[in-house]
Amino acid sequence: MARIVVLTGAGISAESGLGTFRDENGLWSQYDLEEVATPQGFRRNPSLVHDFYNARRRNCAEARPNAAHTALARLEAALPGQTLIVTQNVDDLHHRAGSRNVIQMHGALMRARCGACNRVWPAPMHMAPDDPCPACRRAATRPDVVWFGEIPYHMDRIAAELADCRVFAAIGTSGQVWPAAGLVMEARAAGAHCTEINTTQTDVSGDFDAHLLGLASRVVPDWVAWALARADPGAAGG
Ligand code: NAD
Repeated sequence: MARIVVLTGAGISAESGLGTFRDENGLWSQYDLEEVATPQGFRRNPSLVHDFYNARRRNCAEARPNAAHTALARLEAALPGQTLIVTQNVDDLHHRAGSRNVIQMHGALMRARCGACNRVWPAPMHMAPDDPCPACRRAATRPDVVWFGEIPYHMDRIAAELADCRVFAAIGTSGQVWPAAGLVMEARAAGAHCTEINTTQTDVSGDFDAHLLGLASRVVPDWVAWALARADPGAAGG
């Protein structure tokens, strides 16, 4: 089990050029959530939804990890088996920064999934409604992302990891999307020290022991240095 669990949200990727959802000029000010991020929206207009995620996928391919992603990869490299990233992000910047123990609770832009048989495969840059599934050949392919109203991935494993963690941080997440917003309470219940890193206060700021206000690229490397200083390198978990 990981001793350090880090929850990340869209804010950690903002300085890499990927828009957040709720900030001023965020994606929700440009798109209707109901139309592009719900199963009902997909049924109504699959082309619109594919176009939305095709654009996100292109942006993601052009983006590079920033100093916050690389600092978290350094933490994992220094404390193998002791750190876990739980990300709400569908981009792949944690992986490209070198992090390996990552749970993408809201899925991944770079994966496609068959809505009929559930087969998952690497997403092409451009997806379209009539793309056939490589397994069952039905034209029911969708981005492998979790839409509003759907159940996030790996919640049982996340709960088990939080029950055992000693240090928890939430980076660049607004605390408005559940169940992610409630993970800090699970970490607290386990007795973990909880730090929020954000450019502003959030709906769940009151649930944290400490707050580091500032851009993730500046603040996360400092928090990683703090976590390394208080970690026990000999206590590697499984
Ligand atoms: P959100 O847009 O609701 O909130 C972003 C948070 O990040 C805000 O609290 C904001 O103050 C903070 N922030 C912005 N820039 C920051 C910076 N440079 N440093 C530190 N903090 C910064 O995002 P959310 O809480 O992750 O939840 C929304 C949903 O958005 C998630 O389900 C996620 O799947 C999806 N999403 C993902 C991406 C991505 O994969 N990169 C991008 C947009 C949205």
